Amino acid sequence: MSLSFLNTLTRTKETFVPITPGLASLYTCGPTVYDFAHIGNMRTYIFNDTLRRVLEMNGLTVHHVMNITDVGHLVGDSDFAEDKVDAKAEKEGLHPLDIAKRYETAFFEDFSRLNNKLPTDVVRATEAVDSQIELIKQLEARGFTYRDDDAIYFDTSKLSDYGKLTGQTLSEKLIGAREEVVVDTRKRNPQDFVLWFFLTGRYAHHILHWASPWGEGFPGWHVECSAISRSRLGQPFDIHTGGVDHIGTHHTNEIAQSEAAYGEPLAHYWLHGEHLMVEGKRMGKSEGNLVRLTTVEEKGFDPLDFRYLVLTAHYRSRMNFTWDALVGARKTLTSIRELVAHDTSEKGEYAQEELIRAAFNDDLDTPRALALLHQAKSGALWRKFDCVLGLNVDHLPREKHEVNSEITALKEERDQARAQKDWAKADMFRHKIEALGYRVRDTESGSVLERL
Ligand code: AMP
Ligand code: ZN
Repeated sequence: MSLSFLNTLTRTKETFVPITPGLASLYTCGPTVYDFAHIGNMRTYIFNDTLRRVLEMNGLTVHHVMNITDVGHLVGDSDFAEDKVDAKAEKEGLHPLDIAKRYETAFFEDFSRLNNKLPTDVVRATEAVDSQIELIKQLEARGFTYRDDDAIYFDTSKLSDYGKLTGQTLSEKLIGAREEVVVDTRKRNPQDFVLWFFLTGRYAHHILHWASPWGEGFPGWHVECSAISRSRLGQPFDIHTGGVDHIGTHHTNEIAQSEAAYGEPLAHYWLHGEHLMVEGKRMGKSEGNLVRLTTVEEKGFDPLDFRYLVLTAHYRSRMNFTWDALVGARKTLTSIRELVAHDTSEKGEYAQEELIRAAFNDDLDTPRALALLHQAKSGALWRKFDCVLGLNVDHLPREKHEVNSEITALKEERDQARAQKDWAKADMFRHKIEALGYRVRDTESGSVLERL
């Protein structure tokens, strides 16, 4: 059976042929751990996980690497803005690595509650600085860098196909850049980007820094993904993923650096997940419209209700988030679990099974696969494909419940008591909550209510 993906790089649907038969090497850009993730971020990780599960359904062993960005990602992905983790650390009076640890833990709590499989390797940028320095040295040796007192830069004009991922030529990008970007006189070309920051100007007191052949400093954001993917998966590897917001700058720059340094493609297939939207705007921190998974749970949803909702849209389509849609997803997932609980026959449905497999293999067409599964009305088929869907369809249907406002109010009182370190009062509220059939679980991202 053939598996195909729409490759952003070639803009065509291509049959997947792994570099090593039987294996698939997959690299995913991970989170920047300076704040809590929202369910928009989680949509992208559910897409990555679905890709991994579809590769596994095809008998491939997947080597899945994901980075954690804990240094060098600047606000607005721009040059010479604040470093997101460093800025948060300063605001909270903590060390950047403590900030990173806190939000990394919170990230993986959400990640796992959504049934995403842990990547084979998770690599923090701060733990891979040597390989990043190696990459910059290689670029320097090949004449792709220049420097001033502030930084070492990548010279995009030295690469004839810079920007090929977007399908725009450099001159088209330059026209766009003139309209959008504040021209930084430090750079020779508007699209050039920083490989290594020195401890000067805004970064004079940057807490995280390392020695390098060029002086103390820290790496620019794009460098980590080129270096980590090469060191763990080799170059080229099979598939690189991320969100659509990565195409124009982050992935374009990863390709530029890796290909310039080593004269080989970085990855063969590039897949990008579209955004989760709210009323026509991307869900995001700066848009002020984000929803966290803990809020979803507090409203009485199972995280897998959200996973189901995500699977109803193709990963390359924008998806609008509404609470009504999530209520619909909960209803449908409950009915699937009811069907699976009652229909325990194991009868084969070969023809339908092949159609469903073909839908997953056709650029991860999860909406079509779900439609076929609904048509088939077979508990056996839902069970069979749960290894791809990750919906725990054989969990018993939950009692339908909403957390009522009395319990939410008690939780808020307990949160307040804890914030004031009034432990006796906090315990009193906890007992009251338990008497009403709920437990409060304290997570890195705050407290969550669960049914006892
Ligand atoms: P960040 O932590 O900001 O680097 O983002 C982590 C991941 O979430 C990236 O792959 C982004 O592309 C993705 N992302 C950010 N906002 C959204 C959104 N609204 N919908 C889907 N994915 C998103
Ligand atoms: Zn990346």
